[in-house]
Order: sequence, then structure tokens, then C-alpha cells
Amino acid sequence: MSEKSPKLRAELDGIPTYKPGRPAAAGGPVAYKLSSNENPYPPLPGVLESAIAAAGNFNRYPDMACTGLMNELAERFGVPVSHLATGTGSVGVAQSLLQSTSGPGDEVIYAWRSFEAYPIITQISGAKAVPVPLTAGDVHDLDAMADAITDRTRLIFVCNPNNPTGTVVRRAELERFLDRVPSDVLVVLDEAYREFIRDADVPDGIEIYRDRPNVAVLRTFSKAYGLAGLRVGFAVAHEPVAAALRKTAVPFGVSQLAQDAAVASLQAEDELLGRVGSLVCERNRVYETLVKQGWTLPETQANFVWLRLGERTTDFAAACERAGVVVRPFAGEGLRVTIGETEANDLFLHTAEAFRREL
Ligand SMILES: *Cc1c(COP(=O)(O)O)cnc(C)c1O
Repeated sequence: MSEKSPKLRAELDGIPTYKPGRPAAAGGPVAYKLSSNENPYPPLPGVLESAIAAAGNFNRYPDMACTGLMNELAERFGVPVSHLATGTGSVGVAQSLLQSTSGPGDEVIYAWRSFEAYPIITQISGAKAVPVPLTAGDVHDLDAMADAITDRTRLIFVCNPNNPTGTVVRRAELERFLDRVPSDVLVVLDEAYREFIRDADVPDGIEIYRDRPNVAVLRTFSKAYGLAGLRVGFAVAHEPVAAALRKTAVPFGVSQLAQDAAVASLQAEDELLGRVGSLVCERNRVYETLVKQGWTLPETQANFVWLRLGERTTDFAAACERAGVVVRPFAGEGLRVTIGETEANDLFLHTAEAFRREL
């Protein structure tokens, strides 16, 4: 007598599981986590205090409309509240975007390799994933992405800067691409690392979206703002996209703690962005040192660097770990290393130098 198990949607078969960056080993020599693109700084005092105050109301549901945060974002970015939607991290918002636009029979285009959540959430939606290889320089191939559009295309992700390569698409090429996308196909500009960009030719998605109703911008508090553990992100999009996002969001998904900490972060923005400035200096130092060591790597505008190591990837990741830094290997392809504390970056650079000599 064999009992049947509950029927699950066939689309879930073979979904890759999201691999979180490994934590630094407890009890190891020194251990730094450079595997998840987190901000190494602890929360600013004002942010911590507002989160602690919110913790006193754990017995209550949060404000479902995220009123305080929505008002703060509307003012900060000069957009109407009706063009905003929040979610459990920008991945939560991205999942709502798919739920709002795509299902079986539809197609979703993204560059590859790019953010590893895209294939997962696309497959969950039931839509067909259409990955388009990056160029030889590890940049989005926007011409090939536009060529991949069909009658069934519903959504296109453009990750700018791209995770895990750190490369960017610039204003002129992005505008040219957007001009080729039909107005009923949604383009999602995923700008998780926006605050780390120093290249003036990289457009601000929030400027791009204003006169393009089929563009949505994703931002997060997880990276530059240092609130990865609180799960809060948002989208800026025209109606009716923003309204669809508010419909499909998990009710009460963003905790009051997250809402209040996000507001406090926006209010402490000068100080926060000062820290981001220090990380950008560190990024430039790490990049230049690697180049001096003889590495070839794509220019990065994010808080990480990408080394295309091919078959040597896992060996190098193991060497980093022995040195006390945990990085993010993509076996057979390359390695993403987050810019962290100066000591952590130095440990990584020493390992890179030694490894380079052995190549
Ligand atoms: C980290 C990251 C996000 C943000 O994830 P959250 O869910 O907001 O923590 C979104 N997109 C990309 C490309 C990322 O790297």
C-alpha cells in the first residue's frame, strides 16, 4: 500500500536552491565573511535605537502600508507614494513583479551570469527563463537581450551593476536598449548596488523610469544601507505596476523594526553614505592592487570584485578560507569577493598575490 504524496507544481522540479554566502567559520583563526556583499559596518547609533524602540511592540502587527517609510522614500526620491512598493528585501519585490506579470507560457529575459535569484524566482512563476550570456568583458549584452524578445516576453531584468561581475551598462546603451523594448514588456532595473557607483555615465534608474511607464527600479536597504538582516527593499514604478506589487506582496511582510530602521537610515544618510565612500576607496584599492599583481578583472562599480578563475575557482576559494576569509565561488567560473574591513581585504589580497605566483 503506497500512499501518494501531495501534488506539487511540476514547475518546482529542478529549481536551483539559493546558495547563501557561507558565514565565516566560528572558532577559526580570524574569519571574515566576504561572501554576501554585506556592509561590514554595524548599524549607525540612530538606526539601532529606532529598531530597539520598535522591538518593544513585537506583539503588534506592523503598519501594513509602511506609511512612514513610503513617505520618506517619496520625499527622498521625488516620486509619488503611489509609485512605490515595499517588500521583504528587493528579492521579495522581484518575486512580486514576476507574480504580477509572468506565468506559464511567458518568457523572462535576464543576462547570465547575473543575480542567482533570477532563475529561481522565474522558475517558481512557471515562466520560461531566457538567459542571455554576458559579453566577453562580462557586461550585459543588451543587443542580444533585445534580439531575444518575443511575443511571449513579459519581463526583462537588467542588473546594474551586475552581480557577480560588478560591471555596468551606461546611459546611451541603456536608452538605446529601452527604445527597442515594446511598451508592454516590463524592464526591471535592479540597482541593489546603486550607491557604490562612481561612474557618471551610469544612469540613475529613477531618472530613467520617470518617462518610461514600462520601467521599474528595484532598490534595497541590504547593501549600502547595511540592513541585510532586516529584509526591506522597494520598487519605484508607474501605476499600474506599483499597484500590482502592493496587491501581490505578502501582507505585513516588512516588520515594523525594518520599516523604522529604514526610515532612520534615510535620515542618517549623510553618515551612511560617508561609510559607503570609504568602501568605494577600499574597492578601488583592492581593484588596483589586483591589477598590479597581474590579474585581469572587469572594472567594478559595486562593493565586490570578480575574478574569472575557471577551473581554479574552488582552489582559490579554499586558499582564501585557509587565510581567514570566506569568499563566494561559482565553481568552474569565477569568484566574487565582497569589499569588507581593511584587514579582511588585506588578507584576501595577500592570498591573491601568493596564488598568482603559483599560476
Ligand atoms: C543583494 C541583491 C539584492 C537585494 O536583495 P535583498 O532581498 O534586498 O536583500 C537584489 N539584487 C541583487 C542583484 C543583489 O545582489
